[in-house]
Amino acid sequence: MSSRPKTLKGRKLYIPPMAYGSARATAAVFRSAGIDAEPTPPSNERTIELGSRYTSGDECYPEKVTLGDFLRVAEGKDFDPSKTAFFMPTASGPCRFGQYAQLLETVFREIGADDVYVFSPSSRDGYDGIGSENMERAIWRGLIAADALRKMLLRCRPYEVRKGDMDAVYEESVARLCGVIEKPGISSGKRLEAIASALADSRTRFRAVPARYERGKPLIGIVGEIFCRMNRFSNEDLARKVEEQGGEAWLSDIGEWVWYTNSEKKLRIRDEGRQVAARLAKAKIKELVQRADEHAIYKPFEEDFAGIEEPEDIEEILDHAAPYLPRRGALGEMVLSVGKSVYLHRKGADGIIDISPFSCMNGIVCEAVYPEVSKDHDAMPIRNFYFDGTQVDLEQQIGIFLELARSYQARKKIERRYPAYFA
Ligand code: SF4
Repeated sequence: MSSRPKTLKGRKLYIPPMAYGSARATAAVFRSAGIDAEPTPPSNERTIELGSRYTSGDECYPEKVTLGDFLRVAEGKDFDPSKTAFFMPTASGPCRFGQYAQLLETVFREIGADDVYVFSPSSRDGYDGIGSENMERAIWRGLIAADALRKMLLRCRPYEVRKGDMDAVYEESVARLCGVIEKPGISSGKRLEAIASALADSRTRFRAVPARYERGKPLIGIVGEIFCRMNRFSNEDLARKVEEQGGEAWLSDIGEWVWYTNSEKKLRIRDEGRQVAARLAKAKIKELVQRADEHAIYKPFEEDFAGIEEPEDIEEILDHAAPYLPRRGALGEMVLSVGKSVYLHRKGADGIIDISPFSCMNGIVCEAVYPEVSKDHDAMPIRNFYFDGTQVDLEQQIGIFLELARSYQARKKIERRYPAYFA
């Protein structure tokens, strides 16, 4: 075992694919800085087998999947612990995720691979520990651009004439985006222009796919625990199943979590009462920069996202949640899920699905307050779906939920808006 402090230099960094596009974009950012990086290979049954072998049952499903994927890398014939790093951000709040970086280190010690580096920035400091400010900003842009492409896919795919066309455009688009992100030595301004231009190109290609854009599909908001919600393997591609049952899915994105952690960081600065003005000013400048990047990246999709716009300010979501879960008492994704459900109601959604790993506190708390949320919002249907890799009859249950959504759609008071090109 080496006693030198561990760094990323000379190692291959594996990114867990919480969300497919974002993991690829994040890996591309690291590559632009000269670090060999790629997402872990697509999860499969072996992922669960290995994840289960090294967990006791107290850990949640996202940990099992992430650990299992990392252990699959460790099974590879060329695996060298001293040349490998795993990206494992942590989060605060009522979440076991904060302990998983440590668990990973323990497991790798157990299998004799203690030279592996677990690279672990934290939500507590707004993920400041990610490296240089430029790097952090580049990752933010990658995440937001991947969010925008996924949102465009979900906007268009339910209306495609030939199955698979939109997925193909999405794949090309992610590859084009990563190509722009990974180029080294480009100035920040030029890089943003190149990302926006690649996205504008993708938007044109999505719109060129033969599709029947007709109004009337039930719009289903998807909220819930971030890993399980974004990770298609963990949620068995629930958004696609909603589409197969005739709906359109509006999936809460990753950006939302980053805005929330920024907001929490500002609260913490005030609570700590040290150098408040200077630290708050720094946090606010960072946010302004992030917001400017987000605007530039979403601009090409302005027309397409009519009616499914994300909130301009995360405080709006937190305010919507406040009557049910005050943020000072309920930390983490539960406030976002409840607040976003109210926001989605106001945007004319026809139903809400909350995706949660089995036994996660976020889903359990939300499930307890959803009846009240629904009652206060015209009895809009809201349902929790729990995942632990053993889900049965998911199609059937989604089919039943879509029926509820259709019946709500027929009597709802708030109509949704559509892009002008919808008939
Ligand atoms: S939010 Fe729940 S499921 Fe997600 S990592 Fe934390 S404890 Fe696990």
